[in-house]
Formats: sequence, structure tokens, C-alpha cells
Amino acid sequence: MKIKEAQDKIKEFDKARGWENCWDLKDLSLNITEEVGEFWSLIKWIDDEKQKKVIKENKDQVSDFIGDTLFLILKIANRTKVDAEKSLEETLKEYESRMPAEKIKEVKHANKFAGGIDNK
Ligand SMILES: [Mg+2]
Repeated sequence: MKIKEAQDKIKEFDKARGWENCWDLKDLSLNITEEVGEFWSLIKWIDDEKQKKVIKENKDQVSDFIGDTLFLILKIANRTKVDAEKSLEETLKEYESRMPAEKIKEVKHANKFAGGIDNK
């Protein structure tokens, strides 16, 4: 499913239930933080290796996190009349120009490119 198609489908989903104006933007935003919190609770306080194992063992929960969060993001896009597909295209274009692949490969991590000092 394309992003535009998903955004339209969510619009229809809400319309069919009379939910076009339910939940304000603040509540939708906070709901995203709740989803992020659920995901974080899976992987918090463990190192990268253990995170990989936990993710593998909890793929359904990870998939729920992605689906729920995308649903909320696209709901916000509908409420604010933003074309989410265009937003993502513009974001990717901006990232490509800010973080050229050749330069990032030299430093291996975007944080170092920006002057950061972590060990990744
Ligand atoms: Mg959830």
C-alpha cells in the first residue's frame, strides 16, 4: 500500500465512524508518545545485541508499534491536511543533501559528521 493510499484509507475509516473531528492534535501527539513508550519498554536498558534478540522474540509487538504509530501519524496528516507521501519525499531529499553517502561512509556515523564524539 502506498502512503497516499494509506492516508486516504484512514480518512475513510474515520469518516465511516463519524470520527473526522474526534481527538485533537495534542491527544494524537501524546498517543504517539504512548506507542513509543510501549516500544521503548521492550528494549530499554539493554545493549544492542540483547535488543536484537528481544526484537526477534517480540516481532508482533514491534509490528504493532509500527502500525499504530503510522496510523496516528497519518491521522495527524489528515487532520492538518498534509500530504504525508510528499512530506516523506521532501524529508528524504533533505537528508540526502545534509548527509551525503560518501561523506557519511568516511566517518561511519552521522553524529561524527556533525561533530559528535560517540563510539558508533
Ligand atoms: Mg500499541
